[in-house]
Amino acid sequence: MKDLIADRTSRIDASGIRKVFSLAASLKDPINFSIGQPDFDVPEAVKTEAIKAIQTGQNRYSVTAGDAELREKLSEQIKARFGWDSPSVLVTSGVSGGLLLAFLALVNPGDEVIIPDPYFVMYKHLVNMLGGKCVFVDSYPDFALPVEKIKKAITNKTKLIIVNSPCNPTGAVYPVEQIKALAAVAAERDVVVLSDEIYDKFCYDGDCVSVASYYDKCLILRGFSKSYAMTGWRVGYAAVHESLAEVIEQMTKIQQYTFVCSPTPFQRAAIAALEVDVSDLVAAYKRKRDLIYEGLKDSFELVRPSGAFYAFVGAPAGNASEFVERAIANNVLIIPGQVFSEKDTHFRISYATNNEKIEKGVDILRRLA
Ligand code: PMP
Repeated sequence: MKDLIADRTSRIDASGIRKVFSLAASLKDPINFSIGQPDFDVPEAVKTEAIKAIQTGQNRYSVTAGDAELREKLSEQIKARFGWDSPSVLVTSGVSGGLLLAFLALVNPGDEVIIPDPYFVMYKHLVNMLGGKCVFVDSYPDFALPVEKIKKAITNKTKLIIVNSPCNPTGAVYPVEQIKALAAVAAERDVVVLSDEIYDKFCYDGDCVSVASYYDKCLILRGFSKSYAMTGWRVGYAAVHESLAEVIEQMTKIQQYTFVCSPTPFQRAAIAALEVDVSDLVAAYKRKRDLIYEGLKDSFELVRPSGAFYAFVGAPAGNASEFVERAIANNVLIIPGQVFSEKDTHFRISYATNNEKIEKGVDILRRLA
């Protein structure tokens, strides 16, 4: 097999999550705090639009860049939000598709990508697979955007700085001062910021501020997976200021020979999703955040999360893997910090589940603390 499999596969290590799932395989009806998708279903109006698109024969490839009406609507939103005259927009197969295309288009072997740690796992593995170098910048213990450390980490090989707010796995939403400071640092050194804003609707203590509000050299990645519970439909988008139009052009070229297009009927449904108000769902998630935070804050080290649907909790004795094994033995599925970090001192809770399960899970974790 050694000769069959390409070397680059060895740069991806999925063992952390696999271990959790194999430990969990024997559990019946566990309290599942491990899943990164909402517990609500796709809004009815959006489902209806997807069905209508399929039944009226909109089942062929769309153009590579995405459905023209969807792109036009997204472009209008971006113009209104950032005051850009003529943004470029590419509809991608989820934000995951956008990330792969972005890294393929931008990262040469040896290029450095600055990533605040803890981070969304995909960044590390994709950058490594392409022969890029991840430069992790520690954001413990408060998970604020570590702007000074990012500034120090920039070299002449730095290709990108990744910002993910609201953040998976910490639930941090970076306040405007931190975002402005990051924009200033990136501008000073002329480095592109990749801003993963997939959780932008899930903000509980004020708005989600984008780096793009203060810096044009920003590649924005957004999606429909989380906001409209359509993780299986694979629709996201990448958007840039006109000064970075070439990046979208190259990403589109690569999409042509990889994903081809995001699924056509679901792109049509995404147009309907843009009209759906999810504020009630977000309010329900804020309540879940409160249940988790109030339930755990006295027993664990925990920074109050402000967005997404994750909490990143300090493990007893700073040993996450050991605590995760104990939690799973007690029917609660959580993920050890080492999956999202160079450290293994915390564990991630996804509270995208019903409130009854959250309350039960909190009780069990407190008992184990
Ligand atoms: N970015 C972040 C931070 C995520 O948490 C996820 C999903 N877990 C993605 C991107 C990818 O989402 P999708 O491909 O479904 O749009």
